Amino acid sequence: MMQAAPLVQAQGLVKHFPLRSGVLGRVKGLVRAVDGVDVAIAPGETLGVVGESGCGKSTLGRLLLRLIEPTAGRIAFDGQDIAALDAARLRAQRRQMQLIFQDPYSSLNPRMTVGQTLMEPLRLHGLHAGRERERVAELLRTVGLAPGHAQRYPHEFSGGQRQRVGIARALAVEPRLVVCDEAVSALDVSVQAQVVNLLQDLQRRFGLAYVFIAHDLAVVKHIAHRVAVMYLGRIVEIADKDALFAAPRHPYTQALLAAIPRPEPSLRHEGTVLGGDVPSPIAPPSGCHFHTRCPHAQPVCSERSPPLERTEDGHAAACHFWREIAARAGAPQPIAFAPTRQRLARLQAAFVAADPVSQTP
Ligand code: SF4
Repeated sequence: MMQAAPLVQAQGLVKHFPLRSGVLGRVKGLVRAVDGVDVAIAPGETLGVVGESGCGKSTLGRLLLRLIEPTAGRIAFDGQDIAALDAARLRAQRRQMQLIFQDPYSSLNPRMTVGQTLMEPLRLHGLHAGRERERVAELLRTVGLAPGHAQRYPHEFSGGQRQRVGIARALAVEPRLVVCDEAVSALDVSVQAQVVNLLQDLQRRFGLAYVFIAHDLAVVKHIAHRVAVMYLGRIVEIADKDALFAAPRHPYTQALLAAIPRPEPSLRHEGTVLGGDVPSPIAPPSGCHFHTRCPHAQPVCSERSPPLERTEDGHAAACHFWREIAARAGAPQPIAFAPTRQRLARLQAAFVAADPVSQTP
């Protein structure tokens, strides 16, 4: 992926949230949610974004859509700097950039029928004027629901169906980029598989680019073309998903993969084991943010921040010592994703067998 000209390109993206206190609301500090991110996404590509809670992945997703203003940096969508757009031009541009939320129930207005929910963006952008009802029926069919579902309210649907409604709402304005923020995390495993398969099907049909934010690495491995690993507001490794899962180069990526429960104790991955908690993004450690938890840390790690450096095998990793660590690690081990045999079997069966259109959990 990424041979094509990027659809979205972010450079030096920074988002600091002020921390206020006292009656006067004086700024006492900054939460460094995103701290200098460069990333590009090609048309039709899925970029998985992973990392622990608080690493800045959701903030990054919102910045790419300019739902929040960056503190610094540039975001180009189809070559156009969206940070420089005025409100009217941004609204027109936003049609091409949509968000799917984690919680399908709270993201839908309980007082509106699904038909009204889907019609709202069409009217807002003046799309399909005079044939909005037909368009709503078409959208519902696209996501595997029936046109008759337009008359129902959100509480009348299951979690998987509600997420399909959320996807239909995102598709209503014919976007080119969709940020899926933990879009399947709240769903059961079998339903997750069906929604993931639906997203892949829609990507093939409409050439959508996805930013797929998730904490479940099995799902990311299934859907993503490339994966970016974030730690305390920075991308510490980015690579094609097969390369990243086969031979992670950054100690933090190695730790994330080592923490995946194995179906067999004998397959336990010998890798970096994470200790301690993620430091506060209000006062992140100097130099490499990961040095307080990294078993390979050297004195220089707390002094100098490592750049995101391209490795010979196509990764980009932000570590001063990735070569030495890779040389010590030896041959990569295959990774199996399942805490138990049962979950592995269920997940594989669900991914293979789920039919996104005919089954509507
Ligand atoms: Fe660990 Fe140092 Fe590499 Fe950071 S730069 S990941 S502390 S070895």
